[in-house]
Amino acid sequence: MVASEAAPFAKTGGLADVLLALPRALVRLGHSVDVILPRYRGVPQGDRAGVVTVSDEGAARETRIDSVTSHGVRTLFVDHPAYFDRDQLYGPDGTDYPDNAARFAFLCRAALAWAHQGTPSYDLIHAHDWQAGLIPVLHRGPVVFTIHNLAYQGLFGAEWLSRIGLGRELLGMDALEFWGRISLLKGGIVFSRLVTTVSPRYAEEIQTEEFGCGFDGILRSRGADLVGILNGIDYDEWNPATDPYVGAPYDAAHLDGKRVAKRQLLDVLGLPSGERDLDRPLVGMVSRLVDQKGFDLMARSTDDLLRIDAGYVLLGSGDRRHEEEWRSLAAAHPGRIAVRIGFNEALAHQIEAGADLFLMPSRFEPCGLNQMYSLRYGTVPVVRAVGGLFDTVQDVDLPTGTGTGFTFHPYTPAALVETLRQAIRTYHDRDAWRRIQAAGMGLDLSWETSARKYVEVYERATI
Ligand code: ADP
Repeated sequence: MVASEAAPFAKTGGLADVLLALPRALVRLGHSVDVILPRYRGVPQGDRAGVVTVSDEGAARETRIDSVTSHGVRTLFVDHPAYFDRDQLYGPDGTDYPDNAARFAFLCRAALAWAHQGTPSYDLIHAHDWQAGLIPVLHRGPVVFTIHNLAYQGLFGAEWLSRIGLGRELLGMDALEFWGRISLLKGGIVFSRLVTTVSPRYAEEIQTEEFGCGFDGILRSRGADLVGILNGIDYDEWNPATDPYVGAPYDAAHLDGKRVAKRQLLDVLGLPSGERDLDRPLVGMVSRLVDQKGFDLMARSTDDLLRIDAGYVLLGSGDRRHEEEWRSLAAAHPGRIAVRIGFNEALAHQIEAGADLFLMPSRFEPCGLNQMYSLRYGTVPVVRAVGGLFDTVQDVDLPTGTGTGFTFHPYTPAALVETLRQAIRTYHDRDAWRRIQAAGMGLDLSWETSARKYVEVYERATI
């Protein structure tokens, strides 16, 4: 696998979690996996695995490849300090380093030089996101390419084509060209044997104009080779029966602990935690505070949300505007709304355990992890039915007693508020609620299931 991040070595988002969990799950199924990454600043040196020659700006650079092995997965690091020994992975304060095209072209060329040495011999290369988009462009063997978020497209001026050692023939509509520029993501999509993305629904959505970010035509042309596979969640890390951050362990058969977790959460946040407060529904959110996650929609719905008799707890950071909105809401409703701006692993677990409902009204959502944690913790998700949210949350149908959460589709305050109202009416029906909680807690959201689906894709790609 070739990628720009993998936990625990380098992480800015969910990509790194996939690159930690999927290789391990594949190894448990009996496969061999090497992961190759840049050796960023702070990544341990590891053992010397070899040396490859990489062409870069017309020069041939001898480059060391180091390795670390853990849980049966070998991670290889491309050691080129001029490109990778920097403060950030991609650039300062959400901006890009100006030479990112060259940096990640170097990663791809080094990975291929390594693979082409012949030992070990690889059956297939799995490339992730635009940073690995040149892999299928430059490699003649089978490549599977995964899109983790179509919003990141690896766009660069056309002059970069020759600077990263590619010929002009690649500057065509059927190759890397995207509206006069080049897109390395497009390289990954167009040249690989099979393309995957992180949920079946997102795989369909990105072929439409609404969700396609300009790539819908390109993706439709590869529609027969585009597969959606849900990410799994880490069952050791996210388990209400063993979670070290949560006061009382619980599972589907012993939900009493969840009430203890709720009291703990209310106490941690300084909200009242008497018996009546424990009975009142508590809505949790852990999120980047950006429009993608539905914060603009919530901003348009605040008055109605406040009319619902529920408490709200929010953990996250992101756009200043949304941070301030929620801070001032908490200040105006101190007994009912608690907001923590920042990143806090412990509190994220405590919210998943202690809240009754989890709200995720995303505009788009490639896969989403928090709704899956919520399902596992008996915290009933209320979500917009898009992408991975659509695939993981089954809308409750009260007459038949089926479903794991509450979903809506129109991106409107009315749909959001009415769905949350309906969820809270159901919350007060204890039997119905327990059934919904148990259905969610019983789902299989493991990496093992996802890894088996990747193996099917690898087999299809190597036929
Ligand atoms: P995305 O990757 O689009 O941000 P996901 O739902 O796929 O959304 O994953 C978000 C991950 O980051 C989850 O593991 C979530 O718990 C975690 N997370 C997000 N914000 C915070 C925060 N402020 N504190 C702790 N964890 C957070």
